[in-house]
Amino acid sequence: DASALLSLRNARFAKPQKHYYDTPPQIERGWREFLFDMQGRCYLDMVNNVTTLGHAHPRLTAAIAQQWSRLNTNSRFHYAAVAEFSERLAMLAPDGLDSVFLVNSGSEANDLAIRLAWAHTAKRNMLCLLEAYHGWTVASDAVSTSIADNPQALTTRPDWVHPVLSPNTYRGPFRGPDSGIDYLNDVTAKLQTIDERGLGLAGFIAEPVYGNAGGIALPHGYLAGVYDAVRQRGGLCIADEVQVGYGRLGEHFWGFESQGVVPDIITIAKGMGNGHPLGAVITRREIAESLEKEGYFFSSAGGSPVSCVVGLTVLDVIKDENLQENAHVVGDQLKAGLIALMDRFPLIGAVHGTGLYLGVEFVRDRESLTPATEETAAICERLLDLGVIMQPTGDHLNVLKIKPPLCLAPESADFFVKALETALADGF
Ligand code: PMP
Repeated sequence: DASALLSLRNARFAKPQKHYYDTPPQIERGWREFLFDMQGRCYLDMVNNVTTLGHAHPRLTAAIAQQWSRLNTNSRFHYAAVAEFSERLAMLAPDGLDSVFLVNSGSEANDLAIRLAWAHTAKRNMLCLLEAYHGWTVASDAVSTSIADNPQALTTRPDWVHPVLSPNTYRGPFRGPDSGIDYLNDVTAKLQTIDERGLGLAGFIAEPVYGNAGGIALPHGYLAGVYDAVRQRGGLCIADEVQVGYGRLGEHFWGFESQGVVPDIITIAKGMGNGHPLGAVITRREIAESLEKEGYFFSSAGGSPVSCVVGLTVLDVIKDENLQENAHVVGDQLKAGLIALMDRFPLIGAVHGTGLYLGVEFVRDRESLTPATEETAAICERLLDLGVIMQPTGDHLNVLKIKPPLCLAPESADFFVKALETALADGF
């Protein structure tokens, strides 16, 4: 029974691996943006930023089954899918970013990106943002400063990590979309310290839309300014597109387009595999080849025939089903519905984000912006009762993490707004 299995999980699945909710539903099936538990109860999955196409997409299921039944091996062998998928990714990336590494997760992609910056520049120091999350592997974890994910984050950084102020235009030290210059001053000061100490700069890593802070747009001109300053010192700029890339923003396929910049290295994962472990690094040839100084690169499952077929099919379905456009249209509708709730419910301090990458930030008071952390947890619990899977994000865990499958139907967006309205009107 479900409670015995939950006890078993809690006993055997090592403790640092948390689950959503104290008493989570035991889910056994998914379809589009819906999940079903053992009793057949249906939930709207608004949080799952991995399932781009929706759960159990039949085309993906068929493609995986067919490839598995014929061949799966590693990328030292030559087969069509590895060539085709690498070419598709290179074609999706801006001109000049034409070399592709295939790995299995976002953490691995970011770890490799940092290693590429180290190898290419022969320097070690990295700039990153406070409040960021880039992964759990040694290097990607080092540049992950989110205290929500790791309360010790700021005391356990290796000395090559140099975090700059979180450019959080809602609650950071400088506010509003035009605060870029103030945040850039902080970046310049950090870079000067690195220069003065003669440390040398390997690069800068950031999400082009600030996912971990709740889907907040970076200030205007911020990335252009940082990229310039970093490049002047010979450093490389890494765009972590693990969450924001692949059409989720609706208006743009890549997050960096929203800042009008072109990175030196792009990292992707999550949605590109629709739940299948898949990650990639796309960069310029000379950067990719700098890794040869250290030897070769090999990942046993990265770029396997099955992974490549998954990646190709996900891109085909995004295109054939107009999922980026759906993220744009349904995302706008959803955001408008959420903003409309703000008049009645002062607890909503802001609605962040674009496309199907939104965050509703709860505050006790719109002046002081005191985070409504406990309220956000209670709202998520109530939403579960109302049939919606939702979780908090942000350093204060006071932002609803709205990242549903890109196939989200307009009725599902309305259902979510209604459920949130009910929770707020009832006092959760
Ligand atoms: N970068 C970002 C922005 C992420 O959100 C995540 C995962 N939450 C990662 C990297 C790490 O990806 P993975 O869990 O696939 O290792």
